[in-house]
Amino acid sequence: MMEKNATCQYCNGTGKIKVPNDEKMFEYYIELEMNKGYFADYRGAEEKAFEKVGFTVRECPYCQQKK
Ligand SMILES: [Zn+2]
Repeated sequence: MMEKNATCQYCNGTGKIKVPNDEKMFEYYIELEMNKGYFADYRGAEEKAFEKVGFTVRECPYCQQKK
């Protein structure tokens, strides 16, 4: 079961992570977004990049290691 004090930082305790369908393009879009301005934040850039290249939801490998 979930432990309150050990929220996984990779999946935020959800047990699932997003994997980009195209890693090269994913990185390219993040860079593009980050270069847009002073207000660019990594999380937002990541979200947009995921939308552009598409993603697959997988089980979080970091959570599985703990068990
Ligand atoms: Zn996790």
